[in-house]
Amino acid sequence: MIISIYSAYIVSKQALINNYLDNNYQHATELANAAGNILGTMQESVDALATIWQRENKIDQDLLEDLYSNNKNYFNSIVIVNKDLIVSNTVPATSGVRAGQHLSGPINNMLLDIRIPHITEPFLSKDGRWIVLVTSPLFDKQEQYYGYIAGTIYLQKSNVLQGILEHDYESDGSYVYAVGPKGNIIFHPNLKLVGANKAADEAVWKVMAGLAGKIEFTDQQNQTFYTGYAYNMKSSWGVIVQTPASVIDVPLRELLQKSILLSLPLLLITLAAGWIITYLAVRPLQVLADYSNRMVDDWKSEALPPIRSGTYEVKVLYQSIRFTTRQLQKYIVKLKNETALDGLTGLANRRNFDSTLETWCIGDESFAMVMLDIDHFKRVNDTYGHLTGDRVMQFLAVTMRNVSREGDVCFRYGGEEFGILLRGCNVTRAYIVAERLRELLHGTLSPSGELITVSSGVVAFPEHGRTPNDLISHADEAMYTSKREGRNRTTIYQKELSQADKESEVKRSEEINA
Ligand code: GH3
Ligand code: MG
Ligand code: MG
Repeated sequence: MIISIYSAYIVSKQALINNYLDNNYQHATELANAAGNILGTMQESVDALATIWQRENKIDQDLLEDLYSNNKNYFNSIVIVNKDLIVSNTVPATSGVRAGQHLSGPINNMLLDIRIPHITEPFLSKDGRWIVLVTSPLFDKQEQYYGYIAGTIYLQKSNVLQGILEHDYESDGSYVYAVGPKGNIIFHPNLKLVGANKAADEAVWKVMAGLAGKIEFTDQQNQTFYTGYAYNMKSSWGVIVQTPASVIDVPLRELLQKSILLSLPLLLITLAAGWIITYLAVRPLQVLADYSNRMVDDWKSEALPPIRSGTYEVKVLYQSIRFTTRQLQKYIVKLKNETALDGLTGLANRRNFDSTLETWCIGDESFAMVMLDIDHFKRVNDTYGHLTGDRVMQFLAVTMRNVSREGDVCFRYGGEEFGILLRGCNVTRAYIVAERLRELLHGTLSPSGELITVSSGVVAFPEHGRTPNDLISHADEAMYTSKREGRNRTTIYQKELSQADKESEVKRSEEINA
């Protein structure tokens, strides 16, 4: 839009400039012709006076005044000068020269020399006025040269040229001026400039060279004008019409404002449509990205939310993310099991046991723990081989699961040492579970074809320890007591007993026996 507004601006600007150049050129041509015609008529009037002179050998002052009042529109004054440059007649009385006055100056001398009808350059008269003379030589019947008759145009007074050249341009600052063959200003709306030499200006020197045309030119005051200029051969004058470049500023600004106002609704609609389209295109991607972020933060088996998109690529991306996350979820479940479970027995592994115990020790709920070690297991390995030994351990694991409840954790501590964490249990209940396990093992042949026995130690939280280390070492201690005392038995950890403890120990023994 900016580009189109800018190009419209440039095109309109050039069109406006061309318009002013064309108009000014045409105007200059018309005015130059009009000025030429007027000067031609003025020359004819002066020539007619010269013809009267030739016939009469004089012009009476009365006749001259009559003729002057008929030609008042043209001339500011009329002067008859003899070949000694003495004024013989002049009208009007206010003209500034008197009869009998001696004239001098190069122009007057030149007129005596050339002795042909001639329109002079503008020149500064003795009394300080810029004037142009339209002259004709005076010859008597015998072709004797008398002098010349001159119609005067006072360039700084209201004169015939004003009627043609001056016009009403104030609105846009355009104006017209005319220059003589040497580049001196003959007519200018600013009277102070009359007589000034403008030969350095491009339009002026071109017009002096007899050319006509149009140019955009910048003067010494750095003001740019759109200028038309034309030359008139009859008068050897040039007419220049120029318009300051600032004239196009206002229409251009209006054009710019209009273009912006016109394109604004379209721009807003385009922006809104762009925003909606982008939103619709990006929304499904946002859903996918949010889902991926949630998966990174916290890997749950959350299903990928459905998306609505008509874009083929987005659908493909959706499918592949769905497929990938499903695969990853499966893989993660597998990995979780692998990191949490013992590979041989499928019970919780050591890492899992450690973290469970630590968590339970932080909690308020009481629990108990049985630690057990297979008796003489080396022998099983040595006798039946390690594979059979493995199967025996798997058999033990199954049996341990059978005696535990939902919420309990059966674990392999390491080697052929195992255990059960019993949630919400006291030491009595744990003892009963350990004994139940021993009974079951006692009643079932292991994969080696022999019965196996285990030695167990039992502890309870919090009375036998509040930290995992305490609980494990106390359970170990109890278990080794079982080993020491002949294996295939269960020992409850015994701490230094207080009187109250002793009483509760007695009570517990009674409960067990019951
Ligand atoms: P005790 O009654 O004193 O415990 O005698 P034991 O023979 O069981 O002695 P110990 O506990 O020192 O022996 C442990 C044996 O368990 C040694 C090792 O070969 C065996 N063992 C440990 N881990 C595995 C296993 O993953 N598979 C098999 N087959 N054997 C294992
Ligand atoms: Mg052992
Ligand atoms: Mg053992």
